[in-house]
Amino acid sequence: MAVTRTRFAPSPTGYMHIGNLRTALYEYLIARSQGGQFILRIEDTDQERFVEGSMDVIYKTLEMTGISYDEGPGVGGEYGPYIQSERRGIYLEYAKQLVEKKAAYYCFCTKERLESLKTNDGELGASFNYDRHCLTLSQEEIDKNLAEGKPYVIRQLVPREGKTTFHDVVYGDITVDNETLDDQILIKSDGLPTYNFANVVDDHLMKITHVVRGNEYLSSTPKYNILYQAFGWDIPTYVHVPSVMKDAQHKLSKRNGDASFQDLIEKGYLAEAILNYIALLGWSPGGTREFFTLKELEENFTIDGLSKSPSIFDIEKLKWMNAEYIRKATPEDFMAMAKPYITAVVGEDSVLDLNKIAALIQQRTEILTDIPEKIDFFKELPDYDTAIYCHKKMKTDKENSKANLEKIIAFFKENEAELCSKWQSSELYAVLCELAAKCEVKNSQILWPVRTALSGKEVSPGGATELAEILGYNETVRRLEIGLEKLNKELI
Ligand code: GLU
Repeated sequence: MAVTRTRFAPSPTGYMHIGNLRTALYEYLIARSQGGQFILRIEDTDQERFVEGSMDVIYKTLEMTGISYDEGPGVGGEYGPYIQSERRGIYLEYAKQLVEKKAAYYCFCTKERLESLKTNDGELGASFNYDRHCLTLSQEEIDKNLAEGKPYVIRQLVPREGKTTFHDVVYGDITVDNETLDDQILIKSDGLPTYNFANVVDDHLMKITHVVRGNEYLSSTPKYNILYQAFGWDIPTYVHVPSVMKDAQHKLSKRNGDASFQDLIEKGYLAEAILNYIALLGWSPGGTREFFTLKELEENFTIDGLSKSPSIFDIEKLKWMNAEYIRKATPEDFMAMAKPYITAVVGEDSVLDLNKIAALIQQRTEILTDIPEKIDFFKELPDYDTAIYCHKKMKTDKENSKANLEKIIAFFKENEAELCSKWQSSELYAVLCELAAKCEVKNSQILWPVRTALSGKEVSPGGATELAEILGYNETVRRLEIGLEKLNKELI
């Protein structure tokens, strides 16, 4: 049996859509799970849709997600080049072969003529069927036009009678009436092939065994099959996958403001979590397990787990999964991902222990962009309202907070040397509880005002003594004094 070869064939037209990335992942998984090869091919023959920089987006996304390719731009391979615009010489020759086989024909119709046909038809766009005007040209007329350098396209001659049936792994057998198929353009007037032609030629030349793509290509597939048959080439296994949906009616689409892969990364989602989540949007491992690394997906993937029912992209589910990935990361890995967000707040040259800050927030972070807002008070104490000292459960109000802060500050100052020698959260916790006992107040009535004075916030990651440990003795005392001063001003 032939070695499995799959390809991801994106067009460099902008962002990496979630659906595209999922297609790449499935192609990769089919190849890897069957010991085959995965190829990257850039489909850039539609120069009008080309967006500067989008090739880099494709390379970067695949690199970030770990979807490695065996052949492709920059990697090379036996069947290159892997960028279609660099293969432009190839397609015309194959189109000419089809002309000889009477499976395609030259068309010299002007834009104006085609336009007039469309208006006569009362229709514009994809459903337009060419009237085969140029099919009636004699060989002499064709030769004369070519010799004169008249612009032309080459069209596929699609039989108008009969039916074409093909099999798709996900959708089963699909039959269409040939009369619904149009004589699509294979070679455009700029000499470049259309996607519709280039994909067939390249999939054949690159020995692709499985073609995975969005179900929007299902309706064109009969025309591709007619091309394969005209050439006498083997038809690949088709694996069309349903769209990733935003809701029951709408596809997820960057154009309508939905997030692309890059957007999600910028919003603080992890590449591994995104990949894990989208793998399950249309594929089921056949159990309830939800967490898979890329390696585990390779080991568990089977084509028959693909489903034809569309899946809805649920950002809340992704967020939950992302949080799980963050929680399970080693402290080192979390630090690596969190550091840019932490230093953006506290500064590159901060004297604070960034590892301690990271440890404080790791279990409380769902997406990395949550971080700045959680730790901004470390950099600067916000100007806060003293109402946050009042907490029913902690049994604190402004009066007892003021009284207790006075005692705490006095205690810190009296015992500075000793406290500084063991400036650690657990030690401080014990000391503050002892102080509470001595003052005959509840622990919370000491700890809550300290936490509040140190953070200036109603909620903060970590309790009083964890914050104190990170801030250090001097800053702790300074913030306690600011708190006391605020309360004093109000209560006089
Ligand atoms: N270039 C096509 C696209 O980006 C690829 C379709 C296919 O995989 O055949 O939609």
